[in-house]
Amino acid sequence: MTGPKTHSWIEKLDVYVTGKSKAKSEKPPVKLSANESALGPSPRAIAAYKNVAEELHRYPDPSYQELRQALAHKHNIDKDRIVCGVGSDEILKLVCRAYLKPGDEALFVAHSFSMYPIAVTSVGGVPIEVKDVDYTANVDNILNAVCEKTKIIFIANPNNPTGTYLPNSEIERLWQNIPDTILLVLDAAYAEFIEEEDYDAGIKLVEKSDNVIMTRTFSKLYGLAALRLGWGYACKEISETLDKIRDPFNVPSSAQIAGKEALNDIEFEKLAFGHNKKWRNWLMSELNTLGLNVIPSQTNFILFEFQDRDKTASAANEFLLRHGYILRYYSSQGLENFLRLTVGTKAENKEVIKLLKEFMEN
Ligand SMILES: *Cc1c(COP(=O)(O)O)cnc(C)c1O
Repeated sequence: MTGPKTHSWIEKLDVYVTGKSKAKSEKPPVKLSANESALGPSPRAIAAYKNVAEELHRYPDPSYQELRQALAHKHNIDKDRIVCGVGSDEILKLVCRAYLKPGDEALFVAHSFSMYPIAVTSVGGVPIEVKDVDYTANVDNILNAVCEKTKIIFIANPNNPTGTYLPNSEIERLWQNIPDTILLVLDAAYAEFIEEEDYDAGIKLVEKSDNVIMTRTFSKLYGLAALRLGWGYACKEISETLDKIRDPFNVPSSAQIAGKEALNDIEFEKLAFGHNKKWRNWLMSELNTLGLNVIPSQTNFILFEFQDRDKTASAANEFLLRHGYILRYYSSQGLENFLRLTVGTKAENKEVIKLLKEFMEN
């Protein structure tokens, strides 16, 4: 072929596989494959979004003052060290652009977020997968994999797709034992769902370090996945570095304003949290009763394993698709006999359990 040739490392990349959104049924499918919010966005966020329509000819605020102010207020953090992005995915990519050069290594745990190897490889970095233990990140394994080439360590905490988490003591132990030339990325996309006392999303560590960034998203609990809004919090040097390389108008006005309203709608946030907690616990217990191996989740999704040779995840997936239910099925990643189920509405949760029961019993 003639024409321009991209870098060898970009040629090697595959396109990111998202959660399916089409089923094989007549009715519109029920999508429980992408960890989207069961209750949708806050009504206040929707109203704010509609209001921006009249101002579409204006460029957005390049430094998203009001949104950062609202985030700083809510989390009691320094507004000037918040960087916003087109989803937290953009923050993860900016981090790779800023801190990896071709040949540098970035570590992440097996059975974690599939964006990490893509973001790393897209700048010529080398993704290194570290073994987990019981579907949970393991600090000793990560420390053993650190070498001179290591420049970034990614930890999704709580983790996707397993739903497990590391207590703050383990994150601290990891941080204390790595050189401060390595950037520790704490991806806390599901922080809003967890209430374990020994958990911290990363703010405490960011406040006392110069090599940690915490990333957060509006796509999960806040139900604004379509707007693509995420943010990061780090020391001054890191946040300024990311600010330099991001697009000046990366976050649209619609996302800025709806995000701010979502943050301020505390009532709705409580509702979404309570709904998730109640139904996550119910789903875990029902799946257990069906004889499935449920990985304990602190998020808005549940990963579970089919242990019976005649009842495979692949067959269950086909069965559910025929009935209009889309879960996340992993044909690779070493999770071939698992499905991941996002917590849905009451009716969706009841129905998906009913269908799985039918599948298991026939
Ligand atoms: C969903 C998710 C994100 C990314 O969310 P954005 O929509 O890009 O903000 C990041 N990390 C993990 C672990 C996720 O599951």
